[in-house]
Amino acid sequence: MIKLTMKFKIFFIFIFIFTLAFSVSASANDAADITETDDKKYIALTFDDGPHPKYTEAVLDILEEKKVAATFFVVGFRAELQPESLKRMRKLNCEIGNHTQTHADMSSDYVKNGVTSEIEKCSEAIFAATGEYPVIYRPPFGRISKTNEKKIPLRKVLWTVDSLDWSIKNKNKIINNIVKNVKDGSIVLMHDFYDSTVKALPEIIDILTGEGFVFATVSELAELSKISKLQEYFLDG
Ligand SMILES: [Zn+2]
Repeated sequence: MIKLTMKFKIFFIFIFIFTLAFSVSASANDAADITETDDKKYIALTFDDGPHPKYTEAVLDILEEKKVAATFFVVGFRAELQPESLKRMRKLNCEIGNHTQTHADMSSDYVKNGVTSEIEKCSEAIFAATGEYPVIYRPPFGRISKTNEKKIPLRKVLWTVDSLDWSIKNKNKIINNIVKNVKDGSIVLMHDFYDSTVKALPEIIDILTGEGFVFATVSELAELSKISKLQEYFLDG
C-alpha cells in the first residue's frame, strides 16, 4: 500500500514537471510566433459600395478559393436587400465596415438624412444580417467634415492605395495600380461593383502572395502593430 502511494506520488511529480515543461515551451513558442508575425508583410484588401447582386458573390468566390480575408464597406440599403452576402463574408472571416445607409456625401455639415441616421441604419442592417455591429466606417468618397466625424462613434478608415477601379475599369491597369504601390501595412481601395475588379482580383492575390504579403482585415492590421504606419489614415484621434 505504501509502495503504491509512493508510485502515485512519483507519478504526480512526473505529471507536474511535464506540465511545467510543456507550458514553458508553449509560451516560448508563442513568443516565437509573435516575432515571426512582426517580420511578415501585411496588406488589407477593401471593397466598397456593395453588396452587389452579382459581383460581390464573385469576389467572395475568389476569396474563398484563395483562402484570403478582406474587408467590405457595405451600403446599408443594399445590405438589407442581400443579407446572405454579409453572412457569407463573416463565414469567410472577412470584416464588414459601415459605408452609410445611402452612400451619403458627408463632406458638408448638412447631410440630407442626418449623419447619425446614415450610420445607425447601416449598422443595424449589418447587425440584422450577421448579429454583429461594425466597429469601423469609411465615409463615401473618402470625405467627411470634422463636425460630422465627431458624431460617429466608429473608427474611420480611409486607404493608402487607390486601385481607381471605378474609373479605369481595366483589368491590367487595376492590377498595376495595386501591385506597384503596395507595401507592408497598405490598405487597398477597390469596389465589389465592377466586372474588371472581379477579373483582376485572382491575379492581384497571386502576385502579392508571391511577393510574401499576408492578407488581413483592417482591424487585424491595426492589431498587428501595423497601426503606427497607419495612424494618419485612422483619423479618429
Ligand atoms: Zn463608396
